[in-house]
Amino acid sequence: MSPQHTEFAKRNEQYVANFGDKGSLPMPPDKKLIIVTCMDARLDPAAHLGIKEGDAHIIRNAGGVAKDELRSIIISQRLLGTREVAVFHHTDCGMLTFASDDVRSIVKDAAKGDANVAARVDAIDFLEFKNLEESVKDDVAWLKNEPLLLPETTITGWIYDVKNGKVSQVV
Ligand SMILES: [Zn+2]
Repeated sequence: MSPQHTEFAKRNEQYVANFGDKGSLPMPPDKKLIIVTCMDARLDPAAHLGIKEGDAHIIRNAGGVAKDELRSIIISQRLLGTREVAVFHHTDCGMLTFASDDVRSIVKDAAKGDANVAARVDAIDFLEFKNLEESVKDDVAWLKNEPLLLPETTITGWIYDVKNGKVSQVV
């Protein structure tokens, strides 16, 4: 697969042609909602939740791990008015398949003898999980116990099924 960036401008033309009046959307999300979800390429959270531009902050990372996103959540709540957080993890997530030490070994093996690389990667917790449902409950519990979130925040936890597109609430 060749680099994709050479195609961006061409593919964007269709989007621009149908951009409509989205240029007048305000910055604060209309639904006062934050979605935290996985970066998995099979997930299209806006599509599977019926969210459109201007509605919500969608924050994505490996696993959809909420504790990895405190910085963005604080900015979203305090500066842009969001009051609800929904955490989505999903079936067949890559985060269920490895341990942090596995990733550290891969990085260190590719930079043999580089103490700086070793020290830096050893300092990273890759935040993998072993049980999908528990990982959602843990994230919601972590958010509920985080004093930097607004106390009135509505927090829910969900699983998205990559086999059929269904979402189900865990907590
Ligand atoms: Zn995932």
